[in-house]
Amino acid sequence: MTVSGKKEARNPRGQDDRCAGAERSGTATLIVDGLTKRYAGRGREVVALEDVSLELEPGTFSVLQGPSGSGKTTLLLSAGGLLSPDEGRVFVEGHDLYTLSGGAMAEVRARCIGFVFQQFHLVPYLTVFDNVLLPEIAHKQRRLAGRAAELLATFRLDGRADHYPSELSTGERQRVALARALLGRPALLLADEPTGNLDDHNAGIILECLDDFVRAGGTVLMATHGAHRDGRDAVYMIEQGRIVTVNGK
Ligand code: ADP
Ligand code: MG
Repeated sequence: MTVSGKKEARNPRGQDDRCAGAERSGTATLIVDGLTKRYAGRGREVVALEDVSLELEPGTFSVLQGPSGSGKTTLLLSAGGLLSPDEGRVFVEGHDLYTLSGGAMAEVRARCIGFVFQQFHLVPYLTVFDNVLLPEIAHKQRRLAGRAAELLATFRLDGRADHYPSELSTGERQRVALARALLGRPALLLADEPTGNLDDHNAGIILECLDDFVRAGGTVLMATHGAHRDGRDAVYMIEQGRIVTVNGK
C-alpha cells in the first residue's frame, strides 16, 4: 500500500452490473496521516485517536476492527470530513480535506464520499424514497430520483418506497442507509458497523453489495466490533485510539 503504486481495480471490465450501488463517478485513494483527536469530556479529556495512519487504495476493502469505545466512529467521521482532527491530515483523491474551505470540502464529500452511519440517521418523517434522495432534497433537487428508484430495487425495497423508517425492520433500515450513501456514486464508502445489528442473512446482503462496490474499483473502510470476514484486503485492529496491528502484524 503505497501512495504511488496504485493497484489495478479488481474488476478490469469496469463497473459491475450486479449491484446498481457499485456504480462510481471515479476512484479514490484515502490517506489518513497521523490523526489525533481529543474530546473535552466533563473535567477529563478523552484521547479518542492517537497518531493513527492508514492508506487505502481504489478497489480495496479494509476493515477497522476494535471493541466499543476504541475510536472507530471517530476515525471514520474524521476520514469522511465530518469531524476535524486535532492533529494530522486526511487526503481523499489527493485533496487535503481539512485545508479546504467549507464549500470545497462539502463538494469533495458530495462527489467522492458515501457514509453509512452507525445509527442509520434516517429521517423519521420522510419516506424511504425521500430518505434515499435526502442528499438531493437538501439542495432542493430531485435529479437523482431515477437512481434512487434503481437503488431501492437493488436492495429489494421498491415495495417500501412510500413507507416510513419506523415501519421497516432493522435490516431494511440498514439497506436504506446504504442506498442513501451510494446515491451520489461515491468512490469511497465509509461504513460504520453496517452489519452490527443484523442477522447473518441481512449482513450477507450488505457485505455482498460492499464487495460488488469494491470489485468495481470502489474503496471501502468498514468498522466492526466483531470478527472480520475472510478475503478482505486489510484488517486494522484498533484499541484505545491506536492501530495496534495491521493484518495481524
Ligand atoms: P467506537 O466507535 O469504537 O465505539 P468512538 O469513536 O465512538 O468509538 O469513541 C472513542 C472514544 O471517544 C470513547 O472513549 C468515547 O467515549 C469517546 N467519545 C466519543 N465521542 C465523544 C464526545 N462527543 N465527547 C466525549 N467523548 C467522546
Ligand atoms: Mg462507533
